[in-house]
Amino acid sequence: MYGLSAEDLAIQARARGFADELIPFEEQAEASGAELPADVTAGHAKRARELGLHSTNMPPELGGGGCTTLQQVLVQEQMGRVTNALGWVAATPPSWLPEVATADQIERYVRPAISGDREECYAITEEGAGSDVDAIEATARRDGDAYLLNGVKWHVTSYNSADFAFFQARLAGGPHDGEHAMFLVDLPSPGVRVVRTPAYTHTISHHHPIVAFENVRVPAANLVGAEGDGMAFAYEWFRFERLMVAARCLGAAGRLTEEMTAFAATRRAGGGPISDHGLVAGMLADSLTELFAARAMAYETARGIDGGIDTKVSHAQCSMAKLYCSEMAGRVADRAVQVFGGRGYMRENVAERFYRELRVERIWEGTSEIQRMIIARQMVKRTPAALA
Ligand SMILES: Cc1cc2nc3c(=O)[nH]c(=O)nc-3n(C[C@H](O)[C@H](O)[C@H](O)COP(=O)(O)OP(=O)(O)OC[C@H]3O[C@@H](n4cnc5c(N)ncnc54)[C@H](O)[C@@H]3O)c2cc1C
Repeated sequence: MYGLSAEDLAIQARARGFADELIPFEEQAEASGAELPADVTAGHAKRARELGLHSTNMPPELGGGGCTTLQQVLVQEQMGRVTNALGWVAATPPSWLPEVATADQIERYVRPAISGDREECYAITEEGAGSDVDAIEATARRDGDAYLLNGVKWHVTSYNSADFAFFQARLAGGPHDGEHAMFLVDLPSPGVRVVRTPAYTHTISHHHPIVAFENVRVPAANLVGAEGDGMAFAYEWFRFERLMVAARCLGAAGRLTEEMTAFAATRRAGGGPISDHGLVAGMLADSLTELFAARAMAYETARGIDGGIDTKVSHAQCSMAKLYCSEMAGRVADRAVQVFGGRGYMRENVAERFYRELRVERIWEGTSEIQRMIIARQMVKRTPAALA
């Protein structure tokens, strides 16, 4: 099905097998605030690397998997079947970085990220700048052979486990005054501190603290690309990550569809299995129908990228995939809770966990509203036929 090659099917099967190894840890993760014993987490990370599921998106000459975009989607789809972000051990470092990184940055950041020795986090969003990234107020001021960074960043995912941060700021002074630039900041660094760590809806081990950067001095060698390049990297990352969000949503919806079907076929009420009741059957059928459409869309988007489609077209298609797959998964999770009845409201049930966890997929990496704005803008500029 879906015209997958033998290689595609092999990596998909490997990823599915790994997801099946992770699933038994979900309830323990949920009950413990996602704090699994360190040796268990380290074991999962090691296994992901051994199976070739880590850094699938990175170039092989640097130690990455060099997978096609479609294969990256297939892997992330399987990781999406697992709750509590246990599948995040199959990490995807920023694939745009090797092309713009200096030789020194490749050694200090790119290779260690690919090998799993160093982990990154992204400090871009601020209290007054979320959807509107251009509104950031963080500053970077050149000071001799260094830059001084200042700003307060929100929702810095994985800060608690990260070894370095991408910090986006507005240049203050110099020939590119007011333009954006991106910096690599080692963690910990003098002047970087957690303001507070709010609790979020999901139960995962990755925190999203508010982090203050106060007169943080980084060498000029830590500037990524050139002054003024900051926004270009953000856009490239969005394109990639939106498709991977879509992929993980396919996995979640796939798992939920399997689990609710199995339950509905065996749970008896009113003299027979609940799947015999038309209203329950409708929830099953609608879920698989939407999943089929979403999967076809995400795979086709990936194939387009592998085939060298125009970047602007793929930008809109990644937005469509993210929008549709995340909203589809949200609807499937809602139905799954309903099909499981009271059990679906218990934290030990996969439907309950996904019902909470999937909500953020419509918010991060650009909200559903932002995706709709991007798609509509491209429709007007390029015609609907050019995009789909
Ligand atoms: C769990 C979590 C983890 C995150 N991790 C990171 C991270 O690691 N690094 C990072 O930098 N950021 C991170 N973010 C931030 C995330 O990208 C932003 O929350 C998101 O982009 C939305 O921004 P906002 O929250 O400021 O909402 P706002 O931009 O204030 O939007 C509020 C509402 O207004 C709507 N809206 C805004 N502008 C428009 C418009 N032009 N047209 C139509 N509607 C609009 C939005 O869709 C939304 O419904 C994370 C967020 C969460 C919740």
